[in-house]
Amino acid sequence: MNISENAEKLINLLSESGYKAYAVGGCVRDCLLGKPEKDIDITTSAKPETVEEILKQNEIKVVETGLQHGTVTAVMNGEPYEITTFRRDGEYKDNRRPESVDFVDDVKEDLSRRDFTINAMAYNHKEGIVDLFGGKEDLDNKIIRAVGNADLRFKEDALRIMRALRFSATLCFDIEENTKKAIFNNMYLLDNIAKERIFAELTKLLVGDNAMQVLDEYKEVIGVIIPELKPAFDCIQNNPWHIYNVYGHIIHAVDAAPKDDIIRLTMLLHDIGKPSVKTTDEKGIDHFKFHAPVGADIAKTVLKRFKVSNEIYDKVTTLIYYHQGVENVDNIRVKRWLSKIGEDYTKSLFQVRISDLYAHNPEKIGYEVEKLKALLQELEQIIAAGEAFKISDLAVNGNDLLALGYKGKEIGEKLNEILMLVVDDQLNNTRESIMNYLNEE
Ligand code: ATP
Ligand code: MG
Repeated sequence: MNISENAEKLINLLSESGYKAYAVGGCVRDCLLGKPEKDIDITTSAKPETVEEILKQNEIKVVETGLQHGTVTAVMNGEPYEITTFRRDGEYKDNRRPESVDFVDDVKEDLSRRDFTINAMAYNHKEGIVDLFGGKEDLDNKIIRAVGNADLRFKEDALRIMRALRFSATLCFDIEENTKKAIFNNMYLLDNIAKERIFAELTKLLVGDNAMQVLDEYKEVIGVIIPELKPAFDCIQNNPWHIYNVYGHIIHAVDAAPKDDIIRLTMLLHDIGKPSVKTTDEKGIDHFKFHAPVGADIAKTVLKRFKVSNEIYDKVTTLIYYHQGVENVDNIRVKRWLSKIGEDYTKSLFQVRISDLYAHNPEKIGYEVEKLKALLQELEQIIAAGEAFKISDLAVNGNDLLALGYKGKEIGEKLNEILMLVVDDQLNNTRESIMNYLNEE
């Protein structure tokens, strides 16, 4: 195994001072999987104050981040390395945090508190891989297995349920049977976990290669964290455009979407409004009028609960709100969308619609997908050519209108009117033609 020179150096410094030290957890897992190195965590028998002393003696920069949890961060060449003292977690009382942590001398105890066997391996140059729970074998067999008694481990910290799903989705691993059973037995404990932490795992899950399978196999867990999706689970869509029920359609749309966290989250929630607006006509065909604005409102509740950033909240709810607006592909006017919601949102909206279409009846979608792809190209051309689609792109500005005698609110309204004409190619965006237009009025 190969870990970076910096990590090697830190481990050596600690060993030379008589302590045990290893790279541990995710970095060992990823290294064995041949994945590029991200952050390296180091675990050691040295107490935090000793770690600090050793680092300082060697003129290595120290950040005292989580001293009470036993973590000291060393910074080398601008890269942070978290060095944590071997610990044993005290009793868990609230399904999320141990009451206390004790420092221990044996790496075995530190490894046994870790969540999954594949995350419970340590490594250093001298001893090689320390693998006490069969992590290497599970890695080879692509299995997520709790360390120790799965049921107890999820009761201790229910976030591990989301982590199991996340690793299954991103690594394309199966969750071992007992661990899986324990997930379903304990999924309601997720209610005790901070929503932001659940959301962080959900986002990682969604961009995983195996997201669709996990969303399907563990849909009851998804129903715990997003109860608003539960009515979609068995909401049938008897409509020639569809071959799946609403939830089936949703997860296929997630799968078809680019691996962008905002777009995939949008796909997960895009049809959340459908069950509540479903109607069936006299021929037995189902319709879902206004499901987009209704869904955008439901998504607002979901996203507020997850305490997402304003950026995510605005973008996801806007994309959901407008996703039916691009259903009639022959009526899409790219520049109108650009002026209404801007470049980034318009591009994403077309991507959302393409992903949505891929989850429809494949016999029906060919024309629309091609057309949308062409519209995305058209969008790129409009941007590249610097064509006008916002007020600030116009060849006149507020001062010009002021000089012509327009006042207050009229100015903005007039500029908008001009912009709409320019966007619809009814007026050239030159000072001359706009002035002519204004003078003719
Ligand atoms: P990532 O690639 O997302 O960083 P990771 O496995 O490194 O994955 P981290 O959250 O960085 O995940 O955690 C580092 C290590 O700490 C894990 O590999 C695992 O050994 C341990 N760990 C993290 N969270 C938990 C938890 N909730 N319960 C038990 N052990 C955990
Ligand atoms: Mg990590």
